[in-house]
Amino acid sequence: MPSALNEKISKIISIVRESIPDAPVFNFGATSIPTVKQEDDPKKYRLQSFFAAKLSPQSRDGVTFATCRRIFYTFEPFTIEKLAEATEEDFRKILIDAKHGFTKTHAQQIVASIKTMVEDFEGDLPKTREGMMTLKGVGPKVANLLMQLCWSEKHMVVDTHCVRVGQRIGLHSCKTAEKAMDYFQDNVDPDLFEDISVSLIAVGQTVCKSQNPQCTECPIRELCNFGKNRVQKKNEEVVPKKKPRREE
Ligand code: SF4
Repeated sequence: MPSALNEKISKIISIVRESIPDAPVFNFGATSIPTVKQEDDPKKYRLQSFFAAKLSPQSRDGVTFATCRRIFYTFEPFTIEKLAEATEEDFRKILIDAKHGFTKTHAQQIVASIKTMVEDFEGDLPKTREGMMTLKGVGPKVANLLMQLCWSEKHMVVDTHCVRVGQRIGLHSCKTAEKAMDYFQDNVDPDLFEDISVSLIAVGQTVCKSQNPQCTECPIRELCNFGKNRVQKKNEEVVPKKKPRREE
């Protein structure tokens, strides 16, 4: 799918990877959370990825990482059978200790999701996006992330960073994550989905905060509509206006 949009996205991906490798998403994001490799223990990897994706919305990457690791080390062996024995209170206590938010809701939804996996999906993660959304509390964004993590399918994951940063750069003009997700899926090469999602999150976590984006520090400013205009305006403000020439 060659297009100017895909070319611009490819440039953003390579600049961001090189310029801000310390962004939280690169070190504590969902792909960093499992303790096993997919090829070594695929079922355990998928189960751990469920927690990584489920606990990621509205939480900092570092907090989600720490919470998931606490859960993994609490339940040994980390199997669906062992997890099915746990109560809402067991999960809630871990979430509180890890200072994760929405503890009651997450605990209820985790227990209900595990029950669904046991009863409807042979103790594993569902193999389809529709199946993922039958798990309690899993909406389109988390379902996309789960399909990407568990089954290596290409789905676009859009969060608030992707909406805000993507808009400022000029990649899209959508106001909501759902609309931006559809836009990316209709117009962008699927091979770029995972990397552009993570790159926009990295920029949003570091320089492109919702209030006062630091455009002069931003490695992708030359590719960003908002950043280029902003810096140009600032430069114009500091250039003194020419005084009118006096007539002799
Ligand atoms: S140049 Fe400014 S607005 Fe554009 S992505 Fe960078 S920080 Fe955000």
